[in-house]
Amino acid sequence: MRLFHALLASSLLALTMAGCAKPISQNSVANSPAVMRDETVTGSVLKSASARLDQTMPNRLSSVGRLAGRTLEVATTSDIVLRPGEVILTFDDGPRAGKTPKILNTLDRYGVKATFLMLGSAAQANPALAREVAARGHTVGSHTFDHANLTNLSRQAALDEIVRGEAAVAEALGGAEKLSPFFRFPYLAQTGFLRTSLLHGDMVVLDVDIDSKDYYQESAQTVANRALGRLEGRGSGIILFHDIHQRTVDLLPGFLDELEARGYSVVRLVPKAQGVFGRSIITAEAGGL
Ligand SMILES: [Zn+2]
Repeated sequence: MRLFHALLASSLLALTMAGCAKPISQNSVANSPAVMRDETVTGSVLKSASARLDQTMPNRLSSVGRLAGRTLEVATTSDIVLRPGEVILTFDDGPRAGKTPKILNTLDRYGVKATFLMLGSAAQANPALAREVAARGHTVGSHTFDHANLTNLSRQAALDEIVRGEAAVAEALGGAEKLSPFFRFPYLAQTGFLRTSLLHGDMVVLDVDIDSKDYYQESAQTVANRALGRLEGRGSGIILFHDIHQRTVDLLPGFLDELEARGYSVVRLVPKAQGVFGRSIITAEAGGL
């Protein structure tokens, strides 16, 4: 329950900090945490980042990979420890035709990898797209079958929903070995029992540090500014987007431009042991109910 309370507290903090989002143009490279990056930093990196602030470059023709950070191998949730200036991009609820492909193209242009927490129902409806996400080097986890609020279900039904979601995503991918054990609770709604069950089953619960709230009926710029403001307040974090909204498609290039200009790096999250083979199987019996 302590974890749940911590999550609740962090959500409340997110609400209070939402008003801190600054207009993009007011931030400068001087505030950026570029010094923490792994890559060899030369004067030209900062110079070009600075130059980018003075000109409009909404799109790029090819990937330069400047944003790409380290690859973090994760066996348990506690392995996800970010350094200042590091972010993890996550996209929930897809795949969605017409939206996910554009997100993939943007991520390719910026040379960064994200983690997609797919719904079993969405993967089942768009199996080719699910495979495309994995084929382009992104990490694929699950997000239940049908986006149920698991706290409203019996323990049995909640575990069934999680297992069914994993199975459907694995089938869409064409093999369980392509599915990573990352999982995110719909609505971030969890119970101590469910979280413990998942951890015992060697699943990796993916929490959220920065909720972009890209499902709000707001402009892409407003959503991007809020997420950037939250990020500046924390200095690093796991960012939640949804690859089912047009505004997310629209805001992503500018958002990544800003991350780059401010010296952030995008960490690629991968499971320490690929796929779900070899780990304990989550079963409805896990909780003794
Ligand atoms: Zn969701």
